[in-house]
Formats: sequence, structure tokens, C-alpha cells
Amino acid sequence: MTATADTEFVFELLVCRWAERHWPPESTDADGTVPVVARQLGTRERRWDTVVIEADPDALAARAQFGERELDSDLLHVVRHAPAEWAWYRDALPDPGYPWRYVRAAVHRAAGRGVVEKRRSGNRIEIRRIAPYPDWVERVVAVENKPDLDASAARALEDQLRHDVEAGLADEVWVATAATGDDVEPVLLADLPVEAGVLTLDLDGAASADVAWHPSRLSPDSALSGRRLELAERAYGRGFRSYVETMRPDCRHFELRRAGDALLPWCAAKETHQSQAVCSGSCDSFEPEPPQWRTRGWPIEGGPGKGIARLLAERRRRRRRVDD
Ligand code: SF4
Repeated sequence: MTATADTEFVFELLVCRWAERHWPPESTDADGTVPVVARQLGTRERRWDTVVIEADPDALAARAQFGERELDSDLLHVVRHAPAEWAWYRDALPDPGYPWRYVRAAVHRAAGRGVVEKRRSGNRIEIRRIAPYPDWVERVVAVENKPDLDASAARALEDQLRHDVEAGLADEVWVATAATGDDVEPVLLADLPVEAGVLTLDLDGAASADVAWHPSRLSPDSALSGRRLELAERAYGRGFRSYVETMRPDCRHFELRRAGDALLPWCAAKETHQSQAVCSGSCDSFEPEPPQWRTRGWPIEGGPGKGIARLLAERRRRRRRVDD
């Protein structure tokens, strides 16, 4: 089977769900950490299919005090340096290297989100932290998903993976591919950078994975620690189920179907797993869920579309609380 955009999307969701349940793959150094999994994250130059943030469980629980949403770089600047006792924000925070008025705006935003406390003292705005921002990120792992890893796919990946290895953001880089029953051919491995691991996933039934090639432990660039934390925050805030926010769960044909322990979007009209590109406002087969679905004793408040979005959000929340 040749991978289409749809099958790549489905494979990506299955890899994410597998990683959420079973990361780390055998014989890696992540024991004792908790995976926070997201998809389609990265930098301006490079977007990763799957990102696994290996988190310290206690620190991850402490991170929850700062809310479910991600903290962007401006908010992180405020939250990480906010003092234990009231202080003028310009005394408390390091010089940002850009005008203080932007910091002041971030202070107001942070206080509005409840992630710092703020008060006025004369003309000055003072801040105080609600809690120390925890050091929750242990490692950042990038995974490129290629359900059909054939020779031309391996060659096409080589430059991207070389960039990932050299960019200094990730601690580990992997390619995930679908198990075919055959071993990954050595000729494919020869086309991939030796530092990148190769994971083969058997996604029938309860998903399982084998390590076909162990990755090297990379040495992330310490000058990029801020960008790594921003990436981790985006992963924390978005998870991998936020795809539903850009699809049409309010369409009467939108369903979630179980595949092993994953829930995948399914279009009953097209009888296929639909991608985000297809399942949009421009879909020819879109039909709004009938209003009576929302009123006549439908078991899920707000209709099935809202129920689906809530179900996925609840799964994401459970993972972050580390009680699943
Ligand atoms: S009919 Fe179109 S909009 Fe509705 S679920 Fe299918 S792909 Fe999505």
C-alpha cells in the first residue's frame, strides 16, 4: 500500500497514541519519566510529525498549577523569573533585550491567566509568583513518521534527519515506520543518518513496537534551552488530539472509531479515515448535525460533535495529570 496523506495522518495518530501509552521504546534511558506527546510541532525551519517530551513526573504535576494552556516565550519570561515576594517587575525580571513595555503587556497577560500575581504600588506594577515554575522537561525526542519506509523514502528523509540531528534541539531523533513482517532492510538503514533510531510499529490490535536501530544520544545546544522549553510548552498545551479543532466534528458524518486503544476520526459518508485537509468547511459532503440531536435527550450535552471534542480534550487532560 502506498501511503496517502490520509494514511500518514492516521499512522501519525497511532504513533502518538502508542508513544503516550508505551514510551520509551526498549533500552532507552527514559525510565521513570512520563511522555507528553504532540504532533506537528517544531521551528520555522522544521516541523516534526511527533514530539515526545520526556517529563519528570513530580515536576510535570507541579507544572499543572500554571494551567492547561501553553506558556509562550513572553509568558515564560515572566513566570520563570517572578519573585517569591512582591517586587517591581523591572527589578524582578532580567532585562529582556527588547522594550520593557512588551514585558509589561506580558505581565498583564500572565496575571490575567492567573500564572503570576500582580498589584499596583503607586505608579509601579509589582508581581509575585504563584509557585516556582518547575524544571519538568527531561528530554526532547523528535519522531518522523514514514509508514512506508522504502528506499526512496529513506533517501528523501536523509537531509531532514541530518538537520534534526545537527539542529541541537532534540536529545534523540527517530523514524517510525509500519511493521511489514520483514526486517528493515540494511540498505534502508544505510540511507539514514546513523544517529537516528528506527522504530517499527505493529499497529494491528494492541500496538507494539520494535527497535530496528538504536539512536545515538545527542547533545542539545545549551544555548537553545529556551527554545526547547517553548517547544515543550507547546506540546503540553496542544497534545496530539487538538486536530479535532481544525476538523468538523459538528458534521453528522463525523465519528470516532476505535483502533486498538486509539480513537481515530472516521467519515461515515466517505467510509474512510479522513484527514484534516479533507474534513473542513469546504468538504462537499459536509452536513451539519441535525438540531434535534442536541435537544431530544441525546446523551451527550451539546450534541455528538461537541461530545467528541470534549472526549478528546478529556483524554488529553488525563494524560497531563499523569493518572491514566
Ligand atoms: S463529510 Fe466531510 S466534513 Fe463531514 S465528516 Fe466527512 S470529511 Fe468531515
